[in-house]
Amino acid sequence: MQVNYKMQCNFVIPGDVVGTAEEFLAGEGTYIKGEHIRATTAGMTKLDAIERSAKVIPSTNAPVKLENGDVVVGQITDLKESLAILRLAFKRGCESRPIHNTEALIHISRVKSSYVKEIRQVLALRDIVKAKIIDDTPTIGLSIVDDDLGVVKAYCTRCGTPLRLEEKKLVCPECEQVESRKLSTDYRMGMIR
Ligand SMILES: [Zn+2]
Repeated sequence: MQVNYKMQCNFVIPGDVVGTAEEFLAGEGTYIKGEHIRATTAGMTKLDAIERSAKVIPSTNAPVKLENGDVVVGQITDLKESLAILRLAFKRGCESRPIHNTEALIHISRVKSSYVKEIRQVLALRDIVKAKIIDDTPTIGLSIVDDDLGVVKAYCTRCGTPLRLEEKKLVCPECEQVESRKLSTDYRMGMIR
């Protein structure tokens, strides 16, 4: 298939076709879906015939706007009695534009559809969590009730090793400690859908 070189230096938005996977390597700001290389970010396309790479250069470094309904990924930095505090890393669809210094909260009532007695039974420090924004002002409030939301990566609270999911149990491959979390169905899939 021939690449349309008119695409060079076009403005694209996430999901737009940048080139074909047959002709180019997927570079910065892109991903491969089927036979196409698509943009993960809004910006200008850059096709390099020598490197054979297709990239998208972000058009702006403006802060990512966060709104109700957005899916975000963050890391737990503190746990209170009924709250988990996260530092947000990025928003789904804007993976190449990090969110800077934005804190968000998960209240214990927004963890599971069933009653949770203690937040420490379902979340732990350093957990990487995929969550949905349900409150965007004044502080960002998150929910992880849905099946695809929750912990996507967890570390052993005893030795710090990433926990492995084995038959619905989180097991430490290092010290064999078994832990529990409110898991996302994406746990350790290596990507955020
Ligand atoms: Zn361990």
